[in-house]
Amino acid sequence: MEYKIAVISGDGIGPEIIEEAKKVLLKVGSKFGHSFVFNHVLAGGCAIDATGECLPKKTLSICCDCDSVLLGAVGGPKWDDLPGDKRPEKALLGLRQELGLYANLRPALLFPEFSDACPLKPELVEGGVDLLVVRELTGGIYFGEKGQCETECGTGAYDVELYTEKEVERIARLAFNMAMKRNKKLTSVDKANVLESSRLWRRVVNRVSEDFPEVELSHMYVDNAAMQLVRDPKQFDVIVTSNMFGDILSDEAGMIVGSIGLLPSASMRGGSFGMYEPIHGSAPDLAGKDVANPIATILSAAMMLRYSFGLSEEADAVEGAVKEFLKAGYRTQDIMTEGMKLTGTREAGDRIADAI
Ligand code: NAD
Repeated sequence: MEYKIAVISGDGIGPEIIEEAKKVLLKVGSKFGHSFVFNHVLAGGCAIDATGECLPKKTLSICCDCDSVLLGAVGGPKWDDLPGDKRPEKALLGLRQELGLYANLRPALLFPEFSDACPLKPELVEGGVDLLVVRELTGGIYFGEKGQCETECGTGAYDVELYTEKEVERIARLAFNMAMKRNKKLTSVDKANVLESSRLWRRVVNRVSEDFPEVELSHMYVDNAAMQLVRDPKQFDVIVTSNMFGDILSDEAGMIVGSIGLLPSASMRGGSFGMYEPIHGSAPDLAGKDVANPIATILSAAMMLRYSFGLSEEADAVEGAVKEFLKAGYRTQDIMTEGMKLTGTREAGDRIADAI
């Protein structure tokens, strides 16, 4: 089977980490008999330099024609003085909006071999942690009405949290489907004891749950969820929540894994199309030095195999190869500890590809 992937290498370490993810995909292709066609397109600072725009129309149309998008990272000091709407990072918002990506998937996968990187007590994460935060990405308070007003007590400011039934239903449905592919446990996080928008959220999630009788659904207030994530992270399988709560909880869950260089993500709409990227930025301090950790990007490619192409066995093989790499004691500079074997970006990619 042939899969068309739009590849946005971007800036800084972007091109280096993308090369390693491509290497791994090509190995998956030869081992399992698939063909991955990479269509390289520009976005971010390099696109500004080449075309004057951070997200050229051609990039968007090629992304739309492909089965999925793989993105490295964009931005860097060279473009820091540009006004906000002209900066490379604006390309990310444009891509999410134009491609209709309303769900952000952030797994926190702590490999047992790597538990020394976790800031929690070893007994809390024994055997590893494997949870997925599904965050609503295009609605809620970040996109609601906002403004300033004069009050008797001076200037006031407001941001409105507004969710519609349709927005909640589509993210809930996607989260239930994710839970069906995992351990069939879904925790919906809200603040329904205080917020009207959360009460609507909870009603709609309950309604959608009737279509997924196999999934065990529970509700949790966001303050409790923040505590439970550090008290007992292994209790979670899939968490679904609003844009702002998800922004905060996905970073908290990510910290359990311990390193920014290990965290993948996906942004999706209904169906199989998605954009896959590491959660870290373009790390300009590391660019061109062959020291960046490519694992977050390689695991993003594994998510693409699983969620966009339905290739679970192949995704398992990539995740297994990363596990093997870490288990054998190989570490890039950012996760290096005493007694481990230091590898560069390219060597890490080679070893992981070889382990597939
Ligand atoms: P960053 O994530 O690039 O770097 C933060 C720290 O983590 C740095 O010390 C960096 O060296 C380290 N780091 C990041 N990725 C790493 C990797 N793969 N391996 C080893 N170490 C890694 O965040 P920042 O420094 O705040 O931002 C740098 C640039 O990236 C800025 O221009 C910012 O706007 C942009 N940015 C882009 C994205 C994106 O493209 N999705 C996300 C965040 C930041």
